[in-house]
Amino acid sequence: MTYSIEIERSTAPKTKPQEDQLGFGKHFTDHMFVVDYETGKGWHAPRIVPYQGITLDPAAKIFHYGQSVFEGLKAYRAEDGRLLLFRPQDNFKRLNLSNERMHMPEIDADLAMAGLQELIRIDSGWIPSAPGTSLYIRPFVIATEPSLGVAPSAKYQFLIIMSPVGAYYAEGINPVKIYVESGYVRAVKGGVGTAKTAGNYASGLKAQEEAAKRGCAQVLWLDGVHRKYIEEVGSMNVFFYIDGKVVTPALSGSILDGITRRSVIALLKEWNIPVEERTISVDELFEAHERGALTEAFGSGTAAVISPIGALYSENGDIEIGGGKTGELAAKVYDTLTGIQYGRVADPFGWTY
Ligand code: PMP
Repeated sequence: MTYSIEIERSTAPKTKPQEDQLGFGKHFTDHMFVVDYETGKGWHAPRIVPYQGITLDPAAKIFHYGQSVFEGLKAYRAEDGRLLLFRPQDNFKRLNLSNERMHMPEIDADLAMAGLQELIRIDSGWIPSAPGTSLYIRPFVIATEPSLGVAPSAKYQFLIIMSPVGAYYAEGINPVKIYVESGYVRAVKGGVGTAKTAGNYASGLKAQEEAAKRGCAQVLWLDGVHRKYIEEVGSMNVFFYIDGKVVTPALSGSILDGITRRSVIALLKEWNIPVEERTISVDELFEAHERGALTEAFGSGTAAVISPIGALYSENGDIEIGGGKTGELAAKVYDTLTGIQYGRVADPFGWTY
């Protein structure tokens, strides 16, 4: 299906930032993609317009009741000049799962893809080329109906904005310290942990700040009922290499189904490394460490791809993992995934687009 997307080009293109000073999510490209929704009318008026502020009524439901979902993916500039996306259809599928959970209308994933492609074509000059840099893409949906009744909004807006981002590991892939969070919880089964919705991130900020005071980069989230089963690390999925097998928490109903997680599992299977998706408790992890069986731990997500965990701090003591250094498996997964994303190595899975 072809879509008619109206295009209004910017008459005042911005000066692009230097590629060694990009940071994360600080600079935005010249254009954005916008589609409106209204009950009865459906999604309509897809358009690309100059990047600009949006005006909303102060009573718009997004400000009060948090109907808001988002995605995060990246575009990469390959050495041969190709512009590559990594599993973008998976992101739009997950956006719709989030929409469904938050009682928001499904978007047309084909229209979203068409809009994204056109936006990238127009702003392709914004995809940086320095090693490790990329263009971060943020699709999101917000409830715009001005009404204070606690009910699903009758109006929404879907937008895609894009931001050139710097290399996550400017000085090489680096292990982090993580705090095992026993007080705050991120999500519970039946709640909204499987949705990429704004409130999940707001509710994690306090724990993150308290972890930072302890010298930790992030928290290890435990389940909200027993407070003992491991769920995620910060806003990443988590993997443990124990006794030559890789264990990752099963998608229990409160964990985000990460696209990097899926890719890591597929790679490990391809390499004939046993992967177990199951419940794993902090006690089991510390016990594995005690007997020298826990050799590596790492997080997975779009932003960092792989983030090795060098130490776990907890109320019941601290442990160092893999001598606090990046393990061989984490490094191999990182090199392979980033190799596929930047088109440096063959992609037998058909993940690049
Ligand atoms: N868990 C949470 C809570 C996240 O926000 C993310 C980032 N989207 C992930 C896991 C990793 O997901 P992905 O690999 O799709 O980036």
